[in-house]
Amino acid sequence: MRDHFYLVLAGGVGAAKFLDGLSNVISQEEFKVLINTGDDIDLFGLKICPDIDIITYTLANVVDREKGWGYFNETFNCLSILKKYYQFKWFNLGDKDLATHIFRTDLLKKGFTKAEVTSLISKKLGIRAHLIPMCNEDVQTIVNIGSESMHFEEYYIKHNCEPEIKGIQFEGIREAKPVKNVLKYIREAKRIIISPSNPIVSIGTILQVKGIKETLRKVKKKVFAISPIIEGTTIKGPADKLMRYLGFEVSCVGVAKYYQDFIGHFVIDNRDCYLKSKIEELDIKAYCFDTIMENLDKKKKLAQFIIDINN
Ligand code: GDP
Repeated sequence: MRDHFYLVLAGGVGAAKFLDGLSNVISQEEFKVLINTGDDIDLFGLKICPDIDIITYTLANVVDREKGWGYFNETFNCLSILKKYYQFKWFNLGDKDLATHIFRTDLLKKGFTKAEVTSLISKKLGIRAHLIPMCNEDVQTIVNIGSESMHFEEYYIKHNCEPEIKGIQFEGIREAKPVKNVLKYIREAKRIIISPSNPIVSIGTILQVKGIKETLRKVKKKVFAISPIIEGTTIKGPADKLMRYLGFEVSCVGVAKYYQDFIGHFVIDNRDCYLKSKIEELDIKAYCFDTIMENLDKKKKLAQFIIDINN
């Protein structure tokens, strides 16, 4: 196995698009995915892992490609009744999707770890890539908007990422340990790819799990990242607000500065190519490519480009 696999760090939709391309360019056995679980949330007594599910459904080819999350051809009958019982109304859960959460919660209650459950669900759905949560412990991303604090999912869905962010905490992150063998995978992977995901609440959370950032630093020459910020803005989500709050400029250069310690290579969008020299000043090799993955062909081309970079 040594040297023959890629390790991809992943958040939600941006990462899923990249992995869709990657699994059409190399076989799924050739990559492992380390997935953010800071968005995980308990609802209706069920453990929901939004990023794991987006990646799982995408690689299993059952995802709703228009929305980018959830099952295709989904119905919401169960949710319509749940809404009669609960006050809570902002999270959408389809009927097929609920089966995943029921199965996951059942196994967790029986003592399986999140890593074991993630692996089992992915195998049952026919996935051959190895999917790994960033840790087995519960971590919750809490956002403060001044007047109140809330779970990141509530900020994202109920508030549509609109309020300015005044604070962010990752509850439970101090107790979070990497899943067995993950540090070894970082050392042994042929190449590590940081997907175009939210740098703060998707990749940033993974980086805070004990030992992960330190181990990446030691192998930075083989760490490749793709910028999630194009022309100073996000395609989706609150990465811009979070970067601004943390004092980073909202641009691919800002992301490169945030990743500076542990990446050797950075792919930025063609539209930002005029900033290439600013990234190279940070001692990071920079490459320009069309990174907007609006169809399968573009996803495949970006994945192939990363695989083919000579370093
Ligand atoms: P979530 O789905 O919002 O939880 O988020 P992710 O962790 O996947 O990150 C969202 C980030 O992915 C945003 O900053 C987007 O700009 C970025 N993103 C989404 N789609 C693409 C894409 O096709 N290309 C690039 N370069 N970035 C993307």
